[in-house]
Amino acid sequence: MTEVIPRVHWLKLPLDMVKPTPPHVNAYLIQGDRGYLLVDTGWGTDETLDSVKKHLAAIGADFKDISQIIVTHIHPDHYGLAGKIKQLSGAKLAFHEIEKGFIESRYIHMENLLSQTAHLLGMNGVPPDELPLIKNATLGLEQFVSPVNPDVTFRGGETIAFGEFTFKILLTPGHSLGHVCLYEPKKGILICGDHILPTITPNTGRHPQSDENPLKSYLDSLNDMKNLGVDLVLPGHESPFDKFETRVNELIQHHKERNHSILVNLKREPQTAYQIARGLVWGIAFAWPEMPAFHKRLAISETLAHLTFMVDDGRLKQIARDGMIYYRQN
Ligand SMILES: [Zn+2]
Ligand SMILES: [Zn+2]
Repeated sequence: MTEVIPRVHWLKLPLDMVKPTPPHVNAYLIQGDRGYLLVDTGWGTDETLDSVKKHLAAIGADFKDISQIIVTHIHPDHYGLAGKIKQLSGAKLAFHEIEKGFIESRYIHMENLLSQTAHLLGMNGVPPDELPLIKNATLGLEQFVSPVNPDVTFRGGETIAFGEFTFKILLTPGHSLGHVCLYEPKKGILICGDHILPTITPNTGRHPQSDENPLKSYLDSLNDMKNLGVDLVLPGHESPFDKFETRVNELIQHHKERNHSILVNLKREPQTAYQIARGLVWGIAFAWPEMPAFHKRLAISETLAHLTFMVDDGRLKQIARDGMIYYRQN
């Protein structure tokens, strides 16, 4: 464990999700006057729980010393252990009310969400032979989550005082609709989950639980926070970094370029989101046929987010044909 600034500890936790994934997920432990605030909990395995325990022991603490838990968003790698750690510590758990609304459909009764996903994938051109695998790509993730409701929900804009820290809760939709970041203006730190990562481009996808135009929401929240004044970024994967503004600009630029290459792809004939996703270069070393279904799903939903963005700003048009949606330049 590393103390990144006084009283803020970085917990690098093992992560063994669908490969290739980032090799670890980060949680942060903030030391208050009495007890600790844990931000994000890690992937729900015994190995991760053990790792949290060891990190705590290294600073002479144990689970009972955690008095509050905040989860940036309820993806399994951030929320997985929330239930277990809450049980072991008795801590109060908080996250955004939108994320609370996803618990049941993602981790308890998944049938509805699966059929909505299948419908969306089919409409967007995923062929019947690939559809079942891509639809079911997230099935099984629920084993790595101990679902639990929060004691407190956020709406965004709250202030959380903890010891010498005063965090502002920022609602930052895009990667997940109810994703929050914790900003501490006096210390200049931003705990930002999967909203901003130092080298990985966070996934921003259109799916049944995103909003209508998730890429717009994402870019809007990046633009809104660009001038916050952040000296140290504490991301959910990879390592803490400075140069916050540079990274925000890079991400904005990346999405601009992505939009452009999709537009170029649509020069000749209309295509479905699936066809476009197949033709793009993705940041993992797989050609489409070998790409794991989980990553195909991310690629399609990300492509769809770009397409929706450009329909909204007038660059593209949708055409319905044979029960599917095609896109062409406007
Ligand atoms: Zn995530
Ligand atoms: Zn993550």
